[in-house]
Amino acid sequence: MNNIAVVGAGISGLSIANYLEKHQLDYHIYERRKKDDLTGHGFLLPKEGIEYLSQIVDPSVLFKHGNFLKKYIRYSHRGERLAEKDLNDVFVISRSSLINILARNIPSEKISYEETVTPCTVQKGKLRKKDGTYINSNLAIVSDGSKSRIRREIFKDENMRTVQENEIVNIIKCKDIAASLENNFMKYHHEDGGLTFGILKLSEETVLWYSQLDNKKYNISDEYSVDGLKKYMFDIFSDWDPMVSSIVKGSNYDHVHLWKVYELEKLNPFHKDNIVFIGDAAHPLIPFTSQGVTSALKDSFTLTKYLTSEKNISDAFRKYETERKPEIETHIRNGRILLDEFLKPLDQQSENILPISYK
Ligand SMILES: Cc1cc2nc3c(=O)[nH]c(=O)nc-3n(C[C@H](O)[C@H](O)[C@H](O)COP(=O)(O)OP(=O)(O)OC[C@H]3O[C@@H](n4cnc5c(N)ncnc54)[C@H](O)[C@@H]3O)c2cc1C
Repeated sequence: MNNIAVVGAGISGLSIANYLEKHQLDYHIYERRKKDDLTGHGFLLPKEGIEYLSQIVDPSVLFKHGNFLKKYIRYSHRGERLAEKDLNDVFVISRSSLINILARNIPSEKISYEETVTPCTVQKGKLRKKDGTYINSNLAIVSDGSKSRIRREIFKDENMRTVQENEIVNIIKCKDIAASLENNFMKYHHEDGGLTFGILKLSEETVLWYSQLDNKKYNISDEYSVDGLKKYMFDIFSDWDPMVSSIVKGSNYDHVHLWKVYELEKLNPFHKDNIVFIGDAAHPLIPFTSQGVTSALKDSFTLTKYLTSEKNISDAFRKYETERKPEIETHIRNGRILLDEFLKPLDQQSENILPISYK
């Protein structure tokens, strides 16, 4: 029997598996996707995230695959430099690199890919594999992301709503643009508010760009396609500063993606029976906070701490929730403030708003 079932091998599932491995606890991960199917783009990580990551992965490997940012520079969409701020130890890394680094420490027999897990509606606290058999575990750590099917099944009255912001994200290969960015995080803002374009260097030859848009003002059809997103980007950004318009025109769109952003109107408990939630499954955070990954890492650290120190799992789950929830609520509040600022015209926004929520 595996004592602990972990559902999902995103950042949360893999990070807790690293902690469980470190403490020699018995676990097995069930992941829906194929092993090499790594969608997603990149993350900003504040210093605290790096400190937690460094407990479970080799920092030298981590630093080889990402980039420390020097300055955050804020521009108007016409290219006027509005403000700049030092970014102390803010790190950027692609999602696929971080997932690969976290997965390195997990023995292959402890992870099953292409295994979608569902809750059993009849037996409390039981999870089922896709062949219908039950997972035989003492407890389940659910890390299946913001739209967690297991959470929605358990907390049926939760209200999940769309946020008035979507993000179009792309990663491109271009040494020249990467070199010109000099480790700065550049973000352009439309003067009417509700539209930005951000550029970050991921490595010597890869660049991540993204656009945040007010989805009430800039409506993208639900049936978006790569061509549709490309056309949208061309139409909207053609008259922006040449740095932006040239990147938009010169990009390869094979990996472009539209992210719809969701939040819970009110957080659920982080546990029920022998099931506990971590990461986005417990608390979706809007991207403005840049705290999703760091919060997932801190959830994993804290839950492992109590699983290894408390005599029974209900005390461990309760202490985990008591410790983590207040900080998450702060990030949710900060995220909503950052969203409100983003939606205002530029001349009404506070100056120097960093795209990160701090406690
Ligand atoms: C546009 C955008 C930008 C962001 N930018 C940042 C940023 O700059 N910094 C930051 O820290 N955070 C950022 N975030 C948030 C960050 O992506 C998440 O907080 C983080 O990825 C959460 O990881 P997770 O493991 O909890 O969930 P996920 O990454 O969603 O992983 C869930 C995993 O569970 C698997 N799964 C789902 N259902 C099942 C099932 N039934 N059975 C088995 N497996 C299942 C999925 O395949 C997936 O692998 C951003 C998010 C978005 C959308």
